[in-house]
Amino acid sequence: MTFADLHLHTCFSDGTYTPEELTAQARRVDLRAVALTDHDTLEGCPRMAAACRAAGIEFIVATELTAEADGHELHLLGYYVDPENPRLLAELGKFQDVRQRRIHEMVGRLNQLSVPLQADAVFALANCRSPGRPHVARALVKAGFCGTLDEAFERFLKKGKPAWVPKFKMSARDAIALIHHAGGLAVMAHPGLNRTDDCIPQLVEAGLDGLECFHTKHSTMATEFYLQIAEQHRLLITGGSDCHGLSKGKPLIGTIKLPYDYVERLKERFLQRAADNGFLLAGDSTPHSAFRIPR
Ligand code: AMP
Ligand code: ZN
Ligand code: FE
Ligand code: FE
Repeated sequence: MTFADLHLHTCFSDGTYTPEELTAQARRVDLRAVALTDHDTLEGCPRMAAACRAAGIEFIVATELTAEADGHELHLLGYYVDPENPRLLAELGKFQDVRQRRIHEMVGRLNQLSVPLQADAVFALANCRSPGRPHVARALVKAGFCGTLDEAFERFLKKGKPAWVPKFKMSARDAIALIHHAGGLAVMAHPGLNRTDDCIPQLVEAGLDGLECFHTKHSTMATEFYLQIAEQHRLLITGGSDCHGLSKGKPLIGTIKLPYDYVERLKERFLQRAADNGFLLAGDSTPHSAFRIPR
């Protein structure tokens, strides 16, 4: 049997590995297919695609969008989105602007708490357009204001802590529509970490395509529960490690090995959808540029 990991982050969001390093790790743990799911960005995808091609690993373009349903945060994975879709790129740009403004706000709050961290230190460390709390945490540790990343989250950055700033979230319906507009499949990430189980039926109605049943933070019971829900609603099943490189101690890649059959089903659904929507040209097996990058 061969395996996949469909939830991975690089330094283009809050992971620590470059696309090339992440690909080397995927090779080390013998993965046949991977998806890059950086938060609110597709920027790492061309390099990851090139590295995977050289390593003989199948690569799936993706992103992880922050969304909200009934007042609860949830993350939506968009698989096989067209990385050149103008509306998707415009919306990702907005998300990134919000993330950058939020860094300034969080630093402002830290400064009010007499922690003289500088926003520039966070941006220099993040070195990407999609910065987040993990970068603030790392900057706090680097500058010696906190001993560990956990301490940074516990004292300052967790929801409800004094330097926490809420993030703009798109409604889950809009996020699903955006992913579909870009030709992709919308999958609810790590449902076991959300409080959105009750929203699943309404999101299925809104077009949700799949459920990430296999995730590092899902217990066996949670996995079984979500597999049942997926079956009940005829949702695709996905899974991934949510590896952020070395930012959380040991790299998680390799801890979730999704049987490749699930990738086949995902791909079939994508190709079917593309054909239904007329994305496929006669005799052309490349529905959109998700399959073409890099040239
Ligand atoms: P943000 O997108 O800025 O809200 O940050 C979310 C990221 O922070 C995700 O990658 C989480 O895994 C990470 N995160 C959330 N809580 C913690 C925590 N207590 N310790 C370490 N990382 C965390
Ligand atoms: Zn993350
Ligand atoms: Fe997530
Ligand atoms: Fe993630």
